[in-house]
Amino acid sequence: MNLKKQVIGIIGAMREEITPLLEYYKEYETISYANNEFYKINFNDNIIIIVQSKIGKVFSSITSSILIEKFKVDKVLFTGVAGGISKDLKIGDLMYASSVCQHDFDITAFGHKPGYIPDAGIFIDADYNLISIAKKVANELDINLKKGIIATGDQFISSNEKRDFIVKNFNASAIEMEGAAVGFTCNTLNIPFFILRSISDTANDEANINFDEFVKVAAVNSANFIMKMVERLLK
Ligand code: SAH
Repeated sequence: MNLKKQVIGIIGAMREEITPLLEYYKEYETISYANNEFYKINFNDNIIIIVQSKIGKVFSSITSSILIEKFKVDKVLFTGVAGGISKDLKIGDLMYASSVCQHDFDITAFGHKPGYIPDAGIFIDADYNLISIAKKVANELDINLKKGIIATGDQFISSNEKRDFIVKNFNASAIEMEGAAVGFTCNTLNIPFFILRSISDTANDEANINFDEFVKVAAVNSANFIMKMVERLLK
């Protein structure tokens, strides 16, 4: 049993990614801050803050910082959809980031590897304890939860050429636009993070069409799993 009151932050980038959570918890207080809405839920004497960051690295970094500095969250969970690039990942599959990196960070002109940031490196690992809770939840629900490196960048990837570049340089399994921003922010401020994604497309030349068709069901898929994790974290 947790004696200390916990505060859990949950981020989705798009409306579709947080709507299933708000529909599930039903009662929440809406707090307006920094041109955004933060939804506060009392859950078993603990607090959950849900927020839609908006798409991309800048807004998801800002949102993670606000969750940590203003709302004093103890942990940050991300729920959403991603492009699957490992052969192992099909549309609808659920995966978590073992680590995250920024595929569009490029100072290779100075002889550095793609994604390398001076004084920071390339990869940040997700929190070990949150990953083990996710594995337990997956076992209980008999879900085939996959794992892999998530590569983040401010681009919707829909070409084999870009996919190949990202696989070759980062050995990533999935691509999206927020995970590493959340990860680098949480790591900097010493807060555990966990990134969950359900596959909406495979980042190929049909990615936009697949995305439109599958985003909603994939977002629900991810949100359902995050709710089970939260239950386990706060029981
Ligand atoms: N259709 C939206 C834009 C979606 S951008 C609009 O018009 O407003 C894609 C979002 O889903 C991002 O939040 C990103 O994290 C994730 N994503 C899913 N598939 C992706 C891919 N192939 N490349 C990059 N991000 C992807």
